[in-house]
Amino acid sequence: MARPKFVLLPSHQLEAFAPLLGEAEHARVLAAARDARERFEGRAIWHVSSTLRGGGVAEMLRSLLPYVRGAGVDTRWAVLREDPEFFRLTKRLHNNLHEDPGDGGALGAAELAAYRETLRRSARHFERLIHRGDVVFLHDPQTAGLARYFIAGGATVIWRCHIGTDDPGDTALRAQRFLQPDVEAADLCIFSRRSLAWAGLDPDRCRVMAPSIDPFSPKNQDLDPACVAAILVAVGLAADGAEGAPGFSRADGSPGRVERRAEIIQDGPIPVGARLVAQVSRWDRLKDPDGLVECLASELAPADNIHLLLAGPQATAVTDDPEGGFVWSEVGAHRAVLPAPIRRRIHLAGLPMVDLDENGAVVNAIQRRADIVVQKSLAEGFGLTVVEAMWKRRPVIGSRVGGIAEQIVDGESGLLVDPRDPRALARAILALTRDPRRAAELGAAAHDRVRRRYLGVLRLAEYADLLTALEATAA
Ligand code: UDP
Repeated sequence: MARPKFVLLPSHQLEAFAPLLGEAEHARVLAAARDARERFEGRAIWHVSSTLRGGGVAEMLRSLLPYVRGAGVDTRWAVLREDPEFFRLTKRLHNNLHEDPGDGGALGAAELAAYRETLRRSARHFERLIHRGDVVFLHDPQTAGLARYFIAGGATVIWRCHIGTDDPGDTALRAQRFLQPDVEAADLCIFSRRSLAWAGLDPDRCRVMAPSIDPFSPKNQDLDPACVAAILVAVGLAADGAEGAPGFSRADGSPGRVERRAEIIQDGPIPVGARLVAQVSRWDRLKDPDGLVECLASELAPADNIHLLLAGPQATAVTDDPEGGFVWSEVGAHRAVLPAPIRRRIHLAGLPMVDLDENGAVVNAIQRRADIVVQKSLAEGFGLTVVEAMWKRRPVIGSRVGGIAEQIVDGESGLLVDPRDPRALARAILALTRDPRRAAELGAAAHDRVRRRYLGVLRLAEYADLLTALEATAA
């Protein structure tokens, strides 16, 4: 176990949002920023998570916190660096909270003791850093066990849970019971949706806040089609011949360029005229990459000329997700045994995570190149990738599960299908490829929905209100 990593955050100005938000909403955001600056003068707001890269939590913090800093509030982000054994246990908790057995391991007294002991030691690293009056956001199960220590030190602690299922069964309830005493030590819990809040917690101490994206980040900023094509060439997914340059604007505003090749499994590059269906996700069984391969293999004919691209972080890059490497190999093995006419339409890409701005730009280009973006998750608290693709005006087909079913209004801002019904997914894919006008209408409505509901800047005012209310109750 090492000292946590303290992430250097850039500062972004809120002024850029004026054209996106409209005058009244923008003024409200600026006023909230002013209030927050005064209220938190001399105090810090901390975020503690367990990974710097790959996955929704890292993504959200990266896209939200620079604006808080830009508003003049001292905001910091620490990432835990624990042993693989600890992350194996927390991955089990993660899976179990989704009602999935994961590695099938136990969550008994020995596991609880190990979990608590790791975080007790971890808390020591923060002793001289977190002060009375600071606010600490702890993200997901990996960090919940820190709450009691920071509370004892006089900080306000909020546990932010990004995962879970609407329908907890024995497995999810077991994981909730495991974590509950640690979670209850926090002043407040925030869930991504109302139905994800745990029944065992005091409802007065639970709030709901939807995740959000930053429209100006390398992952979501506008890229013109020539640049999109050049990025796909640069990583090795498309053949040479693009006229543009693989350039983008980095999070700190400086110019960037996609240079690294991805780890790619494919028979040949994605043909220029092919209709591309893409899913961007961590290599996790709950994202059902195998199900997508199966759907293409058994439900879509070679004549449809539909290619499938599954892209995710290079399997070794996400430290708190030890299963990634297995799933990447599994999907590769599944693809390898398919007949050539099917296999050649399936592309797998492990995207380098060394430079996160570059990685974001590649995800951006993939989502923009895709004619259809799918998210075939079997469970999903909230799917950031869905919002990212909606922002890019893509027609998205998502599973009718968890958060996705709220993010997409079926038939209006995307399509929803049963994740266990590959035929329904194939039908939806074919319907959209055959009706580009409808696909474009769904994409336009999707963009508008994100602008109204899922931009991070809208959350800043909500967070400010929440902290004000919390401190008023405590006073
Ligand atoms: N992601 C990324 N690089 C990759 C693959 C995924 O940055 O190579 C990001 C993706 O764009 C999204 C996040 O990881 O922002 C995944 O969040 P989501 O809520 O969809 O799923 P989670 O990983 O939290 O289960």
